[in-house]
Amino acid sequence: MHFPTVCPGCAREVRAEFADSAIHDLTCPHCGTRYCVFVRKHKFEVLFDLGTRALLDGYAREAVASFAAALERFFEFYVRAFALERAADAAGDFGEALAALDGTWRHVASQSERQVGMLALAYLLREGREPDFLTPKALGADFRNRVIHRGYLPRRAEVDAYAARVFALIDRLLTELGGSAAHAELSQEQAFAAHLAALPEGVTAIFEEHPGMFRARRFGTAPPAKAGPGMTARSVNGASALNDAQTFARALAERGPLLDVFKRRPSPAGSPG
Ligand SMILES: [Zn+2]
Repeated sequence: MHFPTVCPGCAREVRAEFADSAIHDLTCPHCGTRYCVFVRKHKFEVLFDLGTRALLDGYAREAVASFAAALERFFEFYVRAFALERAADAAGDFGEALAALDGTWRHVASQSERQVGMLALAYLLREGREPDFLTPKALGADFRNRVIHRGYLPRRAEVDAYAARVFALIDRLLTELGGSAAHAELSQEQAFAAHLAALPEGVTAIFEEHPGMFRARRFGTAPPAKAGPGMTARSVNGASALNDAQTFARALAERGPLLDVFKRRPSPAGSPG
């Protein structure tokens, strides 16, 4: 996936390939200026947005793989937010907590079943109740496996339903996490800070936030009062009056067009000169 950046030297567009680390060391092909673009976006968001774009572009089967990967990475995000939140509550050192978390995650990194186990315990400890969403039916596991492992060609309506289920689940858990999601965000900021500190003299650092299906809500942050009428359907405790399909359809209508930013040239209004 590529996205447009604006060279700080000549203000011309330079397309960058989205990096797994969300850190992009770039050299402008027009003027030779070196700069580094940090994108404040988590893996699960990038994957879900990729799935949404694939769906909108008519690649239903490819979309399923991205949505499934987004859910797995969101489970990791949840575990990280929980573990770092606990460490913060215990007034622990953030760097040490992060190192212990990274070391622990290495034991489960290559097996998604183990990661689901981590999530189940994290949810139980944080919410004090069973993670009722972990049933194969609630996760759409059978559908995902048929598509990914057995080459099943899904109909668009089936993919819409799967996307809606994944979206609603992530949306619900993000709402439950609320401000605690910031703990996981802080770990990305720390990775950014380490890279920033090692940048050579004269390299410009640029921090960006890209619009996305989840980013518009900025996780636990309440939507602004002028948000669309759909937002008022959400009650204070996060329970939604809308069903999964309606929630996803509404998000798609409101935020789907924002994803086109990756296809078009950036607006000249945002660049100097
Ligand atoms: Zn340039």
